[in-house]
Amino acid sequence: MKQKKVAIIGAGVVGASAAYLLSKEADIDLTIYDEGIGQGTSAAAGIISPWLSKRRNKKWYAMVKEGAAFYPDFLSEVMNGEPIPPHVYKRVGTLLFKQKDAQLEELLAIGEKRREQAPEIGKLAILPPNKIKEMIPIYTKNKSALYASGGARVDGEKLVETLLEKAIKNGATLKRERVKIERQNAVYSIVSDDKTESVDAVILAVAAWLPDLLEPLGYSVDIRPQKGQLVEVTFDGYDTENWPVVMPEGEKDITPFEDGKVIIGATHENDMGFDLTIEKSALTSMIKEAAENFSHYFSTSSIVSYRSGTRAYTSDFSPFMGEVPELPNVFAASGLGSTGLTAGPIVGKCLAQLILNKTTPLPLEDYPIRHYVSENK
Ligand SMILES: Cc1cc2nc3c(=O)[nH]c(=O)nc-3n(C[C@H](O)[C@H](O)[C@H](O)COP(=O)(O)OP(=O)(O)OC[C@H]3O[C@@H](n4cnc5c(N)ncnc54)[C@H](O)[C@@H]3O)c2cc1C
Repeated sequence: MKQKKVAIIGAGVVGASAAYLLSKEADIDLTIYDEGIGQGTSAAAGIISPWLSKRRNKKWYAMVKEGAAFYPDFLSEVMNGEPIPPHVYKRVGTLLFKQKDAQLEELLAIGEKRREQAPEIGKLAILPPNKIKEMIPIYTKNKSALYASGGARVDGEKLVETLLEKAIKNGATLKRERVKIERQNAVYSIVSDDKTESVDAVILAVAAWLPDLLEPLGYSVDIRPQKGQLVEVTFDGYDTENWPVVMPEGEKDITPFEDGKVIIGATHENDMGFDLTIEKSALTSMIKEAAENFSHYFSTSSIVSYRSGTRAYTSDFSPFMGEVPELPNVFAASGLGSTGLTAGPIVGKCLAQLILNKTTPLPLEDYPIRHYVSENK
């Protein structure tokens, strides 16, 4: 049987999920290219808890809701009967705080309504400070929070590692390099510094870097980068594995992992392009916020590491995916913004299904690529 040659450019959560799925197809010869610098996935905080957002974009909500529901099934398939490793993904619940405790009732009502369509939100309850302290002993404030038991945390870097490892085991090739795509009539080539390889189909899972690949082919792409910085602190001696994710009012969330590791962040910095520089002042102010909002145990002396990455946004903040207009067999997704880790696996599945010419789990007409990617006339 002649194999179809498929290239995936970009191995963040979207590309790695598509790679895993396509690597299982006997009639596909798969090569994955990933440079990795600035990758959103490995920088991400790791929060999977989209249900209580007040964003009004219904199509975005449908994507992240389906994305969150897809995670456990997808990872069970990936693990092939083995348990999902808790250092990759675990449902630990989410605690949401509001400026005024009275707003929690309103949020609870929204959550209960949304649970009708999204049972994976789990149990919802307003927890008083003493109950929060039972879950997270370092809590030192006196506010209540809304608890949703279905919230999860995921380590983006470990998730991608797991997916790529499985894909390689299934026969895919991974190349850690930056590439370009060229087109001559209906033939596509993937071009690296020292090699040119022709392929039958391509997935562009390059998030904020999509303009770099498509502009040389004569396209305009409505995507801009946004910088995000995070800091990791340690709570040595605490069993943090089952602490829920904490979402205080504002953007600086607190995501506990195993072995005392806790991530705080992130910043949302526009107009910084692809800059990845770590600014000490940003780290200090994130820790200060965590101390003010949640626990005075947070301090700069417990910093272990920091990281930064790039998110991809369209001008109206909506995600898109599909076949690139006038480029048959070239598929792309981008614009996943600050919830791309949540949406990534299901978006990756959509792209894999497009390669296989099968129905996608999300309706493509709700995320029209034509609105954001167009050929220059
Ligand atoms: C600080 C931060 C915190 C976040 N926290 C969360 C969170 O808690 N929850 C959530 O749901 N989302 C979160 N996000 C958003 C989420 O991380 C992203 O939306 C998502 O990871 C995007 O995945 P992706 O696969 O589309 O792209 P990316 O993960 O950005 O991967 C794109 C890859 O393509 C590669 N690439 C680009 N061009 C080329 C080329 N020419 N050749 C080869 N390789 C190339 C890049 O090097 C990169 O590795 C966060 C993002 C950031 C930055």
